Amino acid sequence: MSSVRVRFAPSPTGALHIGGVRTALYNYLLAKKTGGTFILRIEDTDETRYVPGAEDYIVHALKWCGILPTEGPGIGGDYGPYRQSERKAMYGKYAQQLIDGGNAYYAFDTSDELNALRKEYESRKETFRYDSSTRDQLKNSLTLSESEVKERLESGEPYTIRLKIPRDESIQFNDLVRGSVTFQSNEVDDKIMLKGGGMPTYHLANIVDDHFMKISHVIRGEEWLSSTPHHVYLYRFLGWEDTMPEFAHLPLILKPTGKGKLGKRDGAKFGFPVFPLSWEGATEEDSFEGFKEFGFDPAAVLNFLAFLGWNPGTEQEIFSLDELAEAFSVERIGKSGAKFDYEKAKWYNQQYLMAKNGEELAVMVRPFVEAKGYEVSDDYLAKVCEMMKERVSLIPDFVENGYYLFEGVKEYDEKTIRKKWKPERQESFDQLAILINNADPFNAEKLEAVVKGFVSDTGLSFGDVFPILRIAISGTMKGPSVFDMVALLGKEEVASRLKKAYAYFNEVSQAV
Ligand code: GLU
Repeated sequence: MSSVRVRFAPSPTGALHIGGVRTALYNYLLAKKTGGTFILRIEDTDETRYVPGAEDYIVHALKWCGILPTEGPGIGGDYGPYRQSERKAMYGKYAQQLIDGGNAYYAFDTSDELNALRKEYESRKETFRYDSSTRDQLKNSLTLSESEVKERLESGEPYTIRLKIPRDESIQFNDLVRGSVTFQSNEVDDKIMLKGGGMPTYHLANIVDDHFMKISHVIRGEEWLSSTPHHVYLYRFLGWEDTMPEFAHLPLILKPTGKGKLGKRDGAKFGFPVFPLSWEGATEEDSFEGFKEFGFDPAAVLNFLAFLGWNPGTEQEIFSLDELAEAFSVERIGKSGAKFDYEKAKWYNQQYLMAKNGEELAVMVRPFVEAKGYEVSDDYLAKVCEMMKERVSLIPDFVENGYYLFEGVKEYDEKTIRKKWKPERQESFDQLAILINNADPFNAEKLEAVVKGFVSDTGLSFGDVFPILRIAISGTMKGPSVFDMVALLGKEEVASRLKKAYAYFNEVSQAV
């Protein structure tokens, strides 16, 4: 096993956004490509943002996509536990180490005091930051006497521990996507490392865990780039700089139109999924359908996501997960934001559906068939799928676009009927119904021969006959081969559909 160890480290604060799935995927691909290890770590130190069910959701979403961690909660591994709340006891020691080294300090400012400061700054159109320019005027162990600090700590007064960012330094690190990145330390705030109650913040827990879990690469969203200087300082202050992981910050996923990051509410706004699976939130606004419920094949979703920010440098677009892993390289991840293109997502899905056979598709379509209350055999469903697969992009399209293969026609294309149905040809079409009924064997090939024979015997044209037959059977000019449909529906059903349709066509043409 290689020394590549990567982690996907979501916080269980709600449903996992599709951007999170992409982050997981890129981590997974690097691990798979290098024979490394893909770890799931649940970062649940922020109790105020904890949402019950979110961890389960994350696990199910990864499972649905087929990107399975080799270490993680419920999976095991040598570096557990993999839930930060279960590691709580380990972090205090490192906060103390920071204090002892003069790289962190106790802060006693209450949230009311800090809020008042924020307001005051705002009124001057400035932003308050707890940093090297303000900390000397605030209530902390840098400004209070040693004895006062001791007293406050001993009396149990609430405090936080803040990272002491040095003044007037340039802090540089390498990002595998962006190259060399430099921040000025005066622009970097003194982030809280340990909260009252001894719970670490994300920053401390993340670095301690990445260190002890021997993480080699941190691949995460761009929103974490501005936290990276803090992280680099943490590695330095804790004496772990030599084994600091490599960083790769992924480009943002942008809205399809307009500006900005694709948000969780954009799904409802644009009418497409932005979550892998459905999520039942506390409110309706916070409840969503996922890619699964929209009818996506997870392999197509992964293929689509892989290309949101990465490209193989060739024309090839369709990649299985194994092929993605082989082709993947962090260096080919782009810097600029990737537009979420739903049409492209559907195109991928279509390619994946087309590549499957009827039996495979039937398994995927079955839940949607049942949801509609249709009862059909596996064999029948497989045939429907086979004949429809070139005409769908989402799994429910099989039942929605092809509903007439599961129940009678609900609506006829009247416009075409008005043009094509001639009541004086009723007798000929009755004859056609008889010929169809007598076709033996009752299969597509024979039916085609019968109808073609009818056309040449009557002197009618294909254009006179086919639209009538097609609409009588399915109601629409769109759809699979008419002979395949007739063969599938069977003698009796076809006879009854033709009878019903002719009667209706007469009504329509009389009403003109
Ligand atoms: N817990 C962070 C998140 O929710 C992880 C960021 C990181 O990967 O360092 O995205």
